[in-house]
Amino acid sequence: MPGQDDAREASPPIVDIRHLTLTYQTADKPVYALSDINLTIHKGDFISLIGPSGCGKTTLMRVIADLEQPTSGDVTVNGMTPEAARLQRAYGYVFQAPALYPWRSVERNVTLPLEIMGLPKEERLARARRQLELVGLAGFEKKFPWQLSGGMQQRVSIARALGFEPQLLLMDEPFGALDEITRDHLNLQLTRLWLQTRKTCIFVTHSIAEAVFLSTRIIVMSPRPGRILDIIDCSDLPRERSIDIRESPEFQRIAHRVREGLMQGHSYDD
Ligand code: ADP
Ligand code: MG
Repeated sequence: MPGQDDAREASPPIVDIRHLTLTYQTADKPVYALSDINLTIHKGDFISLIGPSGCGKTTLMRVIADLEQPTSGDVTVNGMTPEAARLQRAYGYVFQAPALYPWRSVERNVTLPLEIMGLPKEERLARARRQLELVGLAGFEKKFPWQLSGGMQQRVSIARALGFEPQLLLMDEPFGALDEITRDHLNLQLTRLWLQTRKTCIFVTHSIAEAVFLSTRIIVMSPRPGRILDIIDCSDLPRERSIDIRESPEFQRIAHRVREGLMQGHSYDD
């Protein structure tokens, strides 16, 4: 897109991480979760974090969300501390499990955080309608979570995370538990949502195909302590992507590089 890079240079990063290290102090021994992570994320980026289980992907997301404190290093979100960004509701967080309340309707699950914040009812309902429409669930407002498929439930939790209309969306393996066909469908829908809203996304996945399909950049992480092994730019792929893009040589080339990175990191196993 013309001018996009200029705009990118001009605007301050949405997330800036410098020399981040995090060690969990546990009763028996320290757990070295993250080691010297450096990463700058710009407005409109779609970043995937990929790496073996236990390499610190969730920890990294939780640091950005101010749910975990770094042992050393600096992190800013929208140019502020993660705490200030959290208090301003600068991000929405989607967890691996949809975590919906079964006794609340779809609409009332989406409005729950807004209700807690004391937004007026009309505003809450208007936002719920808007967000449910964005995730393709218009018309499902009055259903209950147990009446929906797993994929639809996860879309409800994305709608809920969008409730405060944050610029930044953090998604921790949101589609990890879904079958492949459902996942393809949700990947396509997430791409459209991202193109339409211009949100900045950070997405954790175990799936190479999912990472390549969705991302502008892929961050390949090593086993614990999590380090960044490779940052792969996907800008040779068009922004607007259809599922068939997976057959393209460019897609295959990037997928191969992700796989190489993961294999290189997998020289030991504990
Ligand atoms: P991932 O999301 O990549 O699977 P996590 O960030 O959940 O990895 O965990 C990174 C490492 O830190 C793992 O070894 C995990 O067991 C450990 N860990 C995570 N949370 C805690 C905690 N609260 N206390 C101690 N160790 C933890
Ligand atoms: Mg995790």
